[in-house]
Amino acid sequence: MRIWIKDPLAILAADAARGLVVEGTRIVELVAAGGAPSAPVDVEFDASRHVVLPGLVNAHHHFYQTLTRAHPSAINRELFPWLSALYPIWARLKPGHLRLAVRLALTELMLSGCTTAADHHYLFPPGLENAVDIEVEEARALGIRMTVTRGSMNLSEKDGGLPPDSVVQDEETILADSERVLKLFHDPKPGAQIRIALGPCSPFTVGKRLMSESARLAERYDCQLHTHLCETQDEERFCLDMYKVRPVDLLEETGWMSKRTWLAHGIHFNSEEIGRLGRAGVGVGHCAASNMVLASGTCRTCELEAAGATVGLGVDGSASNDSSNMMEAARHALMIGRLRYGASAITHLDVLRWGTEGSARCLGRDDIGRLAPGLEADLALYTLDEPRFSGAHDPLAALVLCGAHRADRVMIAGRWRVVDGAPADFDLGELVAAHKAAARDFA
Ligand SMILES: [Zn+2]
Repeated sequence: MRIWIKDPLAILAADAARGLVVEGTRIVELVAAGGAPSAPVDVEFDASRHVVLPGLVNAHHHFYQTLTRAHPSAINRELFPWLSALYPIWARLKPGHLRLAVRLALTELMLSGCTTAADHHYLFPPGLENAVDIEVEEARALGIRMTVTRGSMNLSEKDGGLPPDSVVQDEETILADSERVLKLFHDPKPGAQIRIALGPCSPFTVGKRLMSESARLAERYDCQLHTHLCETQDEERFCLDMYKVRPVDLLEETGWMSKRTWLAHGIHFNSEEIGRLGRAGVGVGHCAASNMVLASGTCRTCELEAAGATVGLGVDGSASNDSSNMMEAARHALMIGRLRYGASAITHLDVLRWGTEGSARCLGRDDIGRLAPGLEADLALYTLDEPRFSGAHDPLAALVLCGAHRADRVMIAGRWRVVDGAPADFDLGELVAAHKAAARDFA
């Protein structure tokens, strides 16, 4: 089947004014102005109302947190007290809750134009040992691409960490399960739907040995590594007290300074550390909304890119955003970046690049994130029909500046998964009703 996405209103690709051709799961051709597809097509999709982007890629999330959005116990706090308030509530998470949270979060992301999502799942209370399996099943059912990060916490209050005992596992259990899910689900090949990454949660929730053993496993199974780093000054103080080094030194000591690693947040780096991270090719998932909500600080995106680090975008967990909208993430990155760097340093094209190609590189992928022949056919199409766009002149700039938040169509691996702004294959109302009911268990 060859589909011509024909004559878009605008498209984020050079020399593709007449659109692109999809065959099977891939983009096979860009069609330049005045041109036509080089071979006959089976279907012509009239994209004259649509702005076409590569599918957005979410570099950081905690899907289970969709059940505790805007929670009265946690709102209006900074990270450490916010976490301490939520850990005991999250400890109630059961497999049925997680399944609905994953389905809801993936659907919410997809409706915003996201075609690949990373979830950092680090919560394994007793009974939830198969959390990764649940996430993989849900992603497969929805047809979205996913990097499921097998997260972990093994440093509880009794050992000087932040989380209570009820939500941590021991190192042996974590490493055995990491290997189990890598063997079962990780697909390092181009075009993969499911990849596994390893994600010890943060310096204040895991021990050093778990960091270095995870890095060893990642090398063996060729997967990415992910953790929260330099999110707050509380974290920096914790590292100095506990380990007598700064967070980036901890990363270095545990074998994480490589292209395999992408970090969530990456705010409190000094300039020398930015240079080291850049030389190592580490990725940073910038989570602007969460950083503003928790008043954590501002990621130094421009210096990181200039140093050679990859910048991607994440929405972060739904208890600190509290929505999972990738177009909002791009808009927030532009806004907060301009406060730091001025009006011309960060453009709509920069934040769209971060939310597509940049995030894809964080996840270790070069088969998605751009519109080019040979890449996977993951597309997000937006109309500019809502009142918020009326009178807009540059369609690509309008998506970010006027605040697009819902895609009209989303294609993943050559298949339409969102049609007319709704999931193509299931009823959204039923899902929201079931998810809302599940969330009552966390009141
Ligand atoms: Zn996070």
